[in-house]
Amino acid sequence: MKEDIGIEIEEYRATDNCPLFSPALEKHLVGVLNGSHPNQGNFCSYCFTPMGADEEICPECDLGSSQVPKVRTVPPEIVEAMRQQRSIESRWVNGFAYLGVLIAVIGGIIFVLATPIFDENLILATIAYGLILLVGSRVLAGLLGGIYGDRIGYERGRRSTREHWESYISKNAPSHSIDS
Ligand SMILES: [Zn+2]
Repeated sequence: MKEDIGIEIEEYRATDNCPLFSPALEKHLVGVLNGSHPNQGNFCSYCFTPMGADEEICPECDLGSSQVPKVRTVPPEIVEAMRQQRSIESRWVNGFAYLGVLIAVIGGIIFVLATPIFDENLILATIAYGLILLVGSRVLAGLLGGIYGDRIGYERGRRSTREHWESYISKNAPSHSIDS
């Protein structure tokens, strides 16, 4: 939807202390959730970024495998955190996109009814309303979904991920200290 309307949306960068989700981990988890590949490999045991079998230092959190042993699978709680984050984000984007369509539908009716030139000409009124629906619903859905839905969805989704992370960390305290 972002590409459709040619609007550049800034990429959000998390500024909190939660290391989820690195782009590589997100890619892996999306595949796991789609069922396109199994939840297996080598992962940093702190931030769960996928690592090569010979890789010693996690490319995301810079912890070496002598400090944090690699794990073979991403814990279910972390997979669930990704699933919920994405579901929250898409709910907000879709919700605002539907709102945009609704505004075009109702706004178009009001506009056509309130414009005197359409009173006598039903065909012209129908064409005008059709155009408003065609263009307006697309543009408004893209704008509202892509800007407001995306932003609010990201914030809500991120909050959910942070809560999952804090709950995970409270049950699985890291075996090393992080200086940051
Ligand atoms: Zn890491």
